[in-house]
Amino acid sequence: KVKALGKNSYMFFKKEMTEKLKKHIEIERILREAITENGFKLLYQPQVCTYTGKIVGFEALLRLKNHSISPAVFIPTLEENGMIIEVGRWVTKEIINQIALWRNNGVDVKSIAINFSAKQLDDSNYITFLENELKKKNVESKYIEIEITESIFLDKKEETITFLNKLRRLGIKIALDDFGTGYSSLSYLTFLPVDKMKLDKSLCDKFLEMENIAIMDNIISLAHSLNLEVLAEGIEDIEQYNRLKVGGCNYIQGYLFSKPVEVTEVEKIYNTVYLEKKLP
Ligand code: C2E
Ligand code: MG
Ligand code: MG
Ligand code: MG
Repeated sequence: KVKALGKNSYMFFKKEMTEKLKKHIEIERILREAITENGFKLLYQPQVCTYTGKIVGFEALLRLKNHSISPAVFIPTLEENGMIIEVGRWVTKEIINQIALWRNNGVDVKSIAINFSAKQLDDSNYITFLENELKKKNVESKYIEIEITESIFLDKKEETITFLNKLRRLGIKIALDDFGTGYSSLSYLTFLPVDKMKLDKSLCDKFLEMENIAIMDNIISLAHSLNLEVLAEGIEDIEQYNRLKVGGCNYIQGYLFSKPVEVTEVEKIYNTVYLEKKLP
């Protein structure tokens, strides 16, 4: 089959593959090194209540300390090779340690959201691990929110529901991330044990740009009627914010308020109230 393409295209194919493979191997090496050399860090992005203008919590977002490789690239790699399980535990532990430190300094961050990959369901002791870390640091479960995406239900529906119910029984909130991408289906929402819906940036941009606002309003109303709170992600301008507020959206996360910030910045901004006049 390869021969039929001719020698040149075979060589081109081979060269391209080699480049891709080299890059992939290099990223894996960087990630493996980051695990052993403490090469990961977390940034924190505030989530703002549209009614009070207060920060109600932060989402923790993983970064490599010494490389500018995007999470959009390295998270899928971590998922493919299973390293996300170890890294996911590191993220969880780091957040709990940090919450304890903040609390000791009188910094009330209220809630930190952790991104949880479908692959991490393979970590069968994750919940026990999480519970133990909370106990060790004397941190209450109300500080933790777990973000999942709908893809987690694709092949492991029952397992996922059991997992989420366990977390909720512990007092941990669940957010459905990236709503409006991929498999989004409103019917999911009726049986998923979740507390919050995060509207993806692409959805917010599309509907507000097209002035197809009725659909957005209806998604928000539907979520509310199912007792879900709604957060809009990736909000960059004030017009979007104002319209989402009118539509009843509970929370906003986006560059309009703040990019994800370094851990040392959190204690400087956690008390900010984004009043109408003070909006950037
Ligand atoms: P996500 O969970 O949907 O996170 C939101 C993404 O949107 C973040 O990208 C954030 O920096 C970006 N964002 C927030 N506001 C704005 C805005 O106003 N404009 C624009 N253009 N972007 C905005 P980031 O940090 O690159 O993370 C990408 C994805 O990587 C995350 O998407 C999440 O799925 C995954 N990820 C990040 N950290 C972790 C982690 O610790 N564990 C796991 N499993 N996944 C993670
Ligand atoms: Mg997220
Ligand atoms: Mg998202
Ligand atoms: Mg995402």
